[in-house]
Amino acid sequence: MEFIQINHNCYYFNGPVNIGYVNVGDHGLLIDTGIDQQAMKRIIRMLDDRSLPITHLFITHAHADHYGGANYLQKKKRIYTIAPAVEESILQNPIIEPIYLSQGNRPLIDMRNKFLEGSPVRVDHIVSEGMMKLGQFELDLIALPGHSINQLGVKVGNILYAADSYFSEEQLNKHRIPFIIDANATLATLEKLLSMGVEGSIPGHGVYEVEVDKTIITNYDHHVSIIESMYRILSNYPDGCSFETIMSEMCRKWNVHLPSVSVWSLYRTAIFSYLIKGIEDKKIEMTVKDFNLYFIPTDE
Ligand SMILES: [Zn+2]
Repeated sequence: MEFIQINHNCYYFNGPVNIGYVNVGDHGLLIDTGIDQQAMKRIIRMLDDRSLPITHLFITHAHADHYGGANYLQKKKRIYTIAPAVEESILQNPIIEPIYLSQGNRPLIDMRNKFLEGSPVRVDHIVSEGMMKLGQFELDLIALPGHSINQLGVKVGNILYAADSYFSEEQLNKHRIPFIIDANATLATLEKLLSMGVEGSIPGHGVYEVEVDKTIITNYDHHVSIIESMYRILSNYPDGCSFETIMSEMCRKWNVHLPSVSVWSLYRTAIFSYLIKGIEDKKIEMTVKDFNLYFIPTDE
């Protein structure tokens, strides 16, 4: 894990999940924590070695790869933790993610792994978008929904910690169909990012970029291609087809790998996000046919 300085105040740890760090005077703010105790241990050691403070923690959204190290951090340091509304309730009750990915059922043990469920996190202050003073920090919290229900990024000066609002090209190629819960919100968030004109941006997965517009446009085009492929698949079924049919055809088209039920559940949610967009755009009708959920293309 590499510790990279961006400017006088802003840094990040570049790893499988990026962790932001902001230092002002004797205050130090971590943005997300990485997936587990081991990741957090290394961060604490690297900051302690440089005599850099850790006093505050901001969690951008309640996915375990971003908050899994927080419980350990809270045991090791006196730290003031802030998180967005709704996300905060999952952080304090992390079983909620395996529950929602199991359609509300009590999750099977396979769903309760460290990628879907971390240890509970104490949240000291629930935040929403807008400017806020936190200790010696001036933070501009930016609503970036789409990848999760209430994800917030944070702008410090003109540097954006963008959470999972967009992915590096490498990540898009790896996942093929990225995890989102709301396709319209995802696209609106990408448009918002393009209009912000930040000096530089750090995604949750990828690297810091000064000219980030190109990556954001690549993300936008990628989602549009997925949406178009969905409509093409549906056009072969003028009388509609079941969710299972669309899911398997889309995964085949995008060459997705589903090694486990828990990974499958993430793709089910992502693919459903595009279907919801189609329904809201009145291009798809959802109904129940022969006891199955059915999706029928409309003429619009
Ligand atoms: Zn995430």
